[in-house]
Amino acid sequence: MVNESTNAGLQVRDVVVTYGKTVAVDAASFDVAPGEVLALLGPSGCGKSSLLRAVAGLEPIRSGAVLWDGEDVSEVPVHRRGFGLVFQDGQLFPHRSVAGNIAYGIVHLSKTEQAATVSRLLTMVGLEGYGDRKITELSGGQAQRVALARSLAPKPRLLLLDEPLSALDRSLRERLADDVSATLRAAHTTAIFVTHDHAEAITIADRIAVMDAGAILQIGSAEELTAHPTTARVHAALGI
Ligand code: ADP
Ligand code: MG
Repeated sequence: MVNESTNAGLQVRDVVVTYGKTVAVDAASFDVAPGEVLALLGPSGCGKSSLLRAVAGLEPIRSGAVLWDGEDVSEVPVHRRGFGLVFQDGQLFPHRSVAGNIAYGIVHLSKTEQAATVSRLLTMVGLEGYGDRKITELSGGQAQRVALARSLAPKPRLLLLDEPLSALDRSLRERLADDVSATLRAAHTTAIFVTHDHAEAITIADRIAVMDAGAILQIGSAEELTAHPTTARVHAALGI
């Protein structure tokens, strides 16, 4: 059942992240509704990773709160939040096969269920039949597809992706952006997708939060932001 209350999903409230005197995230607030994909878009160094890591619980927050379904999870450790993570370099386990990597988070399931999940996810990310491959035999794009499949296997209630395509070359990135978008929809995943690439944000996200210098400037669909940017910086961020 979909929770009908307005508190369903993620709520980020006035989150501040600091490193010494550097304010990396300056009172960021946004919501992600169940099944929604939100892009955090902004230039390098604007605080995207710090904000994502704060949501994950990898970075302590100076003030503010992170809530899930209205419950404050700010003090809940990373592994208890039920959130999945995908990074720029997939951080796959080189000594496990593709299937072994994808099954990593579901070893509590029976072997039959693990195999069925691995097979389903490999098909979803366009790597049917790749289960026995070695990680070292994959291209960069294939490795990121495996990383995505691995992150989806435990059915995270929120998936956090930090520039997962940024290490790939442009043509591959564009193709993969379409596939990631389709995969997130097929898996009904609630997600935050961090990127510095406006085209990627527009392809993948339902709504885009434009960030600059630690602050969220505006949040809306690509159409809303394009039609009514509140500042010149939002306008520039969208590449229009
Ligand atoms: P982005 O992901 O948008 O490139 P980051 O969140 O990585 O931005 O960085 C935001 C700011 O915080 C930058 O000024 C960066 O130099 C600083 N910063 C990030 N991580 C650390 C850290 N571990 N220690 C000190 N400063 C950091
Ligand atoms: Mg970053």
